[in-house]
Amino acid sequence: MENCIFCKIIKGEIPSAKIYEDEDMLIIKDVNPQAKIHYLLLPKQHFANIVEMTDAQAQTLARCIKKLSNMVDELGLQDGFRLVSNKGAHACQSVEHLHIHILGGQQLDDRMC
Ligand code: AMP
Repeated sequence: MENCIFCKIIKGEIPSAKIYEDEDMLIIKDVNPQAKIHYLLLPKQHFANIVEMTDAQAQTLARCIKKLSNMVDELGLQDGFRLVSNKGAHACQSVEHLHIHILGGQQLDDRMC
């Protein structure tokens, strides 16, 4: 989608610290980490949040999370991790392209956002 920063990252128009990519998703490092390990899982298909997600997009997202569960060791998350997705301004969503925060290692900030 035009003017979506995560769509631009997915298309390679904006650089990112890419950790993993396949046909469904990109995993990148967050530029402003809130934990020792802070990645973002970005589904390649644009939708703003889980409320806007279609059934097909929900299936893709479930597939992405299952793939993530198979990459725990290579992502350095073997000691535990937290998945967070903010929806709406009151929940501190700042980028309107659904993304899952992957937070692991020692927490730097225990607030939800
Ligand atoms: P949220 O507030 O839940 O919408 O999260 C958006 C996240 O995207 C924040 O943690 C930002 O630090 C992160 N972010 C914004 N721009 C970039 C970027 N260009 N590369 C990586 N992470 C980004």
